[in-house]
Amino acid sequence: MTAYAQTVRPSAPQLEALTPYDPKYLPADAFLSANENPRDVDEELRRHIMRVLRDVPLNRYPDPLSNELRDLIAEANGVTRDQVLVGNGGDELLFDIALAWGGPGRTFLNMPPTFSVYDNNAQLTNTEIVSVVRDENFDIDEAAVLERVAQGDIDYVIVTSPNNPTGKLADEQFILQLLESTDALVVVDEAYFEFSRKTIRPYLERFENLLILRTFSKAFSLAGVRVGYVLGSPRVIRELIKVRQPYSVDAVSQAIAQVIYEHRALFEPGISAIIAERSRVFDELKRIAKVVPYPSDANYILFRVPQAGRVWQGLYDRGILVRDLSGAPQLEDCLRVTIGTEEQNDEFLDALRTVLADIARQQLQPPAHPSA
Ligand SMILES: *Cc1c(COP(=O)(O)O)cnc(C)c1O
Repeated sequence: MTAYAQTVRPSAPQLEALTPYDPKYLPADAFLSANENPRDVDEELRRHIMRVLRDVPLNRYPDPLSNELRDLIAEANGVTRDQVLVGNGGDELLFDIALAWGGPGRTFLNMPPTFSVYDNNAQLTNTEIVSVVRDENFDIDEAAVLERVAQGDIDYVIVTSPNNPTGKLADEQFILQLLESTDALVVVDEAYFEFSRKTIRPYLERFENLLILRTFSKAFSLAGVRVGYVLGSPRVIRELIKVRQPYSVDAVSQAIAQVIYEHRALFEPGISAIIAERSRVFDELKRIAKVVPYPSDANYILFRVPQAGRVWQGLYDRGILVRDLSGAPQLEDCLRVTIGTEEQNDEFLDALRTVLADIARQQLQPPAHPSA
């Protein structure tokens, strides 16, 4: 390759410390790494989607605010259209939140270990990050969070409930205390609420500073389509509309999400199956020596296991892709497995037992003597 006739000057300084998001999505037989629904949209619903898509105008810009979908979501949640905003996945809305409530001279309170996107968005927008780390059981240090917001300089906080990757719901009383004690924007990320069946939604009318984030990517089998939404006060929604990309949710995604949302009751048996499997997998993991699973209210389980990197590789060699979090702060030795179908879960558990037995056997073997 020849040298460039001109090189490019460096990008904005806040990018220097950032690495691009990498979901480590490798080919596998069982994808248990991204918290997706293991069951894709069924045939009948797919045919319905195809019929609807045939009539979507492709030459026209989409409705910028996805108003038809917005109304469906509003109605289902007992709120009005101006309390809902649809985004290109929950991820886009999280970025919009950082743009609207963060920025130079502003501060975000984070509770790691949690979803890495929050920290990234704050860095991108030159928002100061205050981290109040979770305790050894990954519970929020509630007193420390309340004490820190009392200083008055926090502009937004994100409470992930259930928390990703650790799995547990945040305590409702704590969220209410937080909402009462600060006028910071308090985002409650409920990306997994269909699996926890708990929501802070009943308090929307009481707190203008409460914003709830949800997604179609997990329970509704739509990770490939990119649709998420927030529920909040009209004032917060109006600010988010100012920063968002006007056409971020394309016409095809809007149409698909509408069909899915209208038929969301069809996903209920699959969600119930995942919840039942979650407790079965948890119990099985507890029975495996050296494995310590953390309780989960979501569709995944975080577990500690010695030599997690080696275990991850052993699972992957057997066609099972889980998420290796062992390189992240506070998550040493941690892997996260998404709850799949009963079959996939059995494959995962069998593979894990085999991999651990193999590792134990290798360690029992006497070290090879170098031949003199
Ligand atoms: C998956 C996820 C989201 C949103 O994902 P999208 O696919 O962008 O909708 C938001 N928060 C958490 C904690 C998640 O795990």
